[in-house]
Amino acid sequence: MTSDQLALWPSDSPAASNARSPRAARLLTQSNRRLKDIGVWTWTLPAWSGRLPDGRTYNTCPSAGICRQVCYALHGAYLWPVVRSRHQANLRLVLDDLPGWQQAMINELQTPRFAGRWVRIHDSGDFFSDDYLRAWTGVCRACPGVNFYCYTKEIDRFRRLVEPDPPDNLHWVYSYGGVQDHSLNPGVDRVADVFPDEDAIDRAGWSSQRASDLLAVLGPPLVGMSANRIPAFLKRIAGRRFSTWQAADTAARAAQRAVPARPRRTPS
Ligand code: SF4
Repeated sequence: MTSDQLALWPSDSPAASNARSPRAARLLTQSNRRLKDIGVWTWTLPAWSGRLPDGRTYNTCPSAGICRQVCYALHGAYLWPVVRSRHQANLRLVLDDLPGWQQAMINELQTPRFAGRWVRIHDSGDFFSDDYLRAWTGVCRACPGVNFYCYTKEIDRFRRLVEPDPPDNLHWVYSYGGVQDHSLNPGVDRVADVFPDEDAIDRAGWSSQRASDLLAVLGPPLVGMSANRIPAFLKRIAGRRFSTWQAADTAARAAQRAVPARPRRTPS
């Protein structure tokens, strides 16, 4: 996953969300204004980790790294109770009945309104398990008339489960800022990196997806995104790219692990 400012749309308004049960709701929304403007539908999970109302804990971004320190989906409107509970309701559908959720998603996507359309899998959250990723590739194969795309930090999972035989209509870009960054090869992989601003993207010779989020999968394969203009986040980013910040963080953690533990003093 990577950065996109969420702008609430009527389907995510408190009145709309209170009025429906998770089962009755449409699974796909256009609650992200920037994506709606280019005709993209989205499916969303809650970002990172949390606790469901029934007490279960979750982590929907198991390979997130430094990105979680500046996660747009752990900020602002995403934290409104009505928005968070809708995203958690989506997660409950997946956790409680994955085949049922998959069939409901296929049923929705096979309606004429989605013919030829684009669906972004995850506005926040990621492919948190093998079964969940397999369920999505099944959806893609069952809906050949729909185009799907995603950002993901689940590199190992995609290498094992998707890369050997990807559905024709599934497009993805690996995004920097996760604990598996080291296995990315920008000479081969399509990759997205977050830069401090658009100028930094230009200077690095990468291609901005600013004009359309679909450029992340349809444009040149080195995809630049500028950081959200949230002052506290910009302070933490401190002018770095996610890739360099993550590499430094990984190295610092490795160095910390390499320091031998101080021997414990035994009582005399
Ligand atoms: S992977 Fe995306 S949604 Fe998850 S913590 Fe990182 S930025 Fe947030």
